[in-house]
Amino acid sequence: MEAVPPGLKLQLANEPLAAVFARLIAATGPLSLAQFMAESNARYYMTRDPLGGDGDFVTAPEISQMFGELIGLWLADMWMRAGCEEPVHYVELGPGRGTLARDALQAAKRFGLVPQIHFVESSLALKARQLTLHPTAQWHDSLASVPTIGPILLVANEFLDALPVRQLVRTPQGWRERMVAFDEPSSGGETFMFVAGSQPRDSALPAGNLEQDWREASEGAIVETCPAAVAIVSEVAERLVAQGGAALFIDYGYVEPQTGSTLQAVRDHRSVDPFASPGESDLSAHVDFAELARVAQSREARWLGTVGQGHFLRALGIEARAANLAAAAPQHAQAIMAALDRLIGEGEMGALFKVMGLAAPNWPESTGF
Ligand code: SAH
Repeated sequence: MEAVPPGLKLQLANEPLAAVFARLIAATGPLSLAQFMAESNARYYMTRDPLGGDGDFVTAPEISQMFGELIGLWLADMWMRAGCEEPVHYVELGPGRGTLARDALQAAKRFGLVPQIHFVESSLALKARQLTLHPTAQWHDSLASVPTIGPILLVANEFLDALPVRQLVRTPQGWRERMVAFDEPSSGGETFMFVAGSQPRDSALPAGNLEQDWREASEGAIVETCPAAVAIVSEVAERLVAQGGAALFIDYGYVEPQTGSTLQAVRDHRSVDPFASPGESDLSAHVDFAELARVAQSREARWLGTVGQGHFLRALGIEARAANLAAAAPQHAQAIMAALDRLIGEGEMGALFKVMGLAAPNWPESTGF
């Protein structure tokens, strides 16, 4: 798994990334959007903890302990029904502050599941935070170094959406890579802008089931793909088949094929222009869950389903858990119910966020889907 493509190794941590990009574009021409996004997020995550009220965005595990607890119960349930095999590995991709792992592993322990902990994390700032909660964890740059003996119980929450996307744009000459150029208009100022690449890219269109539609797409149409997410889900699927285990991928995403750009930038809990301050805002794109389910199945892993986060958490009993917590601490009841609504409400995270479950072919059926 090489989520961040090699390339711009000329980043100097104290030089604004916009200046690095401008220099690079002047020297070698426009950058692909994928490279722009990869380098921007590498800088962004490397230098800060973006989570929580003081940061740029809030994720489900930071909203309530119920989220991680139910994921831990789901993993423990799968592991027990598969025969309590040891050694067993808890693997989390992009664990943020380590909160989800803390809540999940606490819940799992009650059922005798005490796995080895493996974190795939690129950010030094976040590794430092994870270390305080998980002193026995092992850190990895990619899945490649995670042990190959014993089942893996893998979780990735809001990880795939941070991986670089590639966009193809329909031009009168056919499909082209969507590139980022840099302009210094005579009116002053400087701006990044999209341009179409010079090379034909028709062969890079996803096979999908829409080949006919691709040919008939109108000028300006955009098709987005995420090769890094495909590579990671393939690798996870192969691990599940070879070692046993189960995996949950949770993200903002879609299950029907669609066209158009879903690239967005968030800073200080607000949507901003992705080009305004590269490396200073979180760039993300929606996850194409249909494609990822296809990829996992093509590697012989079992696809358990892809459902809304609200559906998944309800099926695991989040409403009863919230009622118990509220009864035990009436002074917090209102906050607990507000958190419940944020996690499962249709207008909140309940429908937009999806949960995709995968398992080894010989592992049991699951609840939640
Ligand atoms: N899962 C956490 C954090 C989500 S933010 C939560 O739900 O709160 C995205 C996480 O992925 C961060 O930990 C970030 O540092 C990590 N990350 C982003 N890109 C990565 C990459 N290419 N390789 C490894 N980790 C990455």
